[in-house]
Amino acid sequence: MSNYNFQYYIKDGEEHFVFDREEKSFPFPENLLRILYLDMWKLEPMFKEMDKSLLDFMREKEWQYAQDIISRLNELAQEHVYFEFLCFDWQWRLEETMRKEFKGMHELLPRKQLRHIPSDIDTMQKQIMKLFETVLDINKKKQPMGEKLELYFESAKLHSLSVFDFQSLQTCFERVGSGDYAEVLHPTSIKDFIDFSLRECIKREISMRICKSCGRYFAVTGRINSEYCSVTRDKKGRTCKEIGAIKLWNSTKGTDEIFKIYRREYKKRFAWIKAGRIAPSDFLRLERPGVTEKNRV
Ligand SMILES: [Zn+2]
Repeated sequence: MSNYNFQYYIKDGEEHFVFDREEKSFPFPENLLRILYLDMWKLEPMFKEMDKSLLDFMREKEWQYAQDIISRLNELAQEHVYFEFLCFDWQWRLEETMRKEFKGMHELLPRKQLRHIPSDIDTMQKQIMKLFETVLDINKKKQPMGEKLELYFESAKLHSLSVFDFQSLQTCFERVGSGDYAEVLHPTSIKDFIDFSLRECIKREISMRICKSCGRYFAVTGRINSEYCSVTRDKKGRTCKEIGAIKLWNSTKGTDEIFKIYRREYKKRFAWIKAGRIAPSDFLRLERPGVTEKNRV
C-alpha cells in the first residue's frame, strides 16, 4: 500500500535502518535486545494520547490533530529505533489521508493497530525471552539447534501465545549502501524487525548470556568468555563492559598494592635480621626493632 522506501538489513555484523535519505547503524542484534527490555507500560500513556488525537483527526478532519500524533511519534523514536519506522509509516498514512480527503481513512489509519502496540510488544518480549532461555542461552550450547527449537515450539501446544509467531516477510536481495548487496527487509510493522532479527539470531546460532552487571541478556559475538554487555549504560553513559573493565582494573591494582606493601615489609625485616637488629624468630612478630611484646605500650 505504501509508496515509501524503508530498508532494514544486516551486513558485516551491523544492522542498518535506511529511510528518508537517513541511515542509522548499530551492532547486531543490539535493537532486538533493547526492545526486549523496553518498559512498554511507561510508554503506554503516550499511545493512549495518540489514540485520542487520532479519533479527533478522523472526526474533525483537522491537520492539527495529525500534528499532535507526529510529534509524539517523534518523541517515541528517541526511545527505540523501531519507533522511527512507526513515525515514518504513520506520517505517510496521515498525509495520505489528507491527500485523499479522508476517503478510505479506516484502511489508511488502523487505529486498533496503533493502540495495541504496547501490549503487542509486551507479549513479544515474553516470547523472545522464552526463545533466549530455551534456544540461544550459551548454557544450552551443547544441545543441537533443531532439538532446542522443537522444544520451544512444542510449548505452543499448551499456550499458543507463549512462542513467537514467525510470519512471511517482505524481503528482497538488493543493492544497499556503496555498491553492496544484502537481503533487505521492507517492514510493514514493528513485529517485522523482531521477526527478521530473531530468525537471523537462530540462523547464525548467536549465543546469549546474562550480563554480570545488569542481569540482562546480551549476544556473545566477540570473546566467548565475555561476561559484560555493551548495551546497558549507567547515568554517566558507561556500558557494563566499560564498568566491568574498571572494576577488574581496580581489583588487580588493589592486589598489586597489597603485594607491594608485603614485599617492602619483607625486605625491611630481612635486612634487620641481617644487621642483627632482630632475631629470626621475631620476623613476623615485631613491628620495629626495640619494640617487643613486653615493652609495647
Ligand atoms: Zn549489562
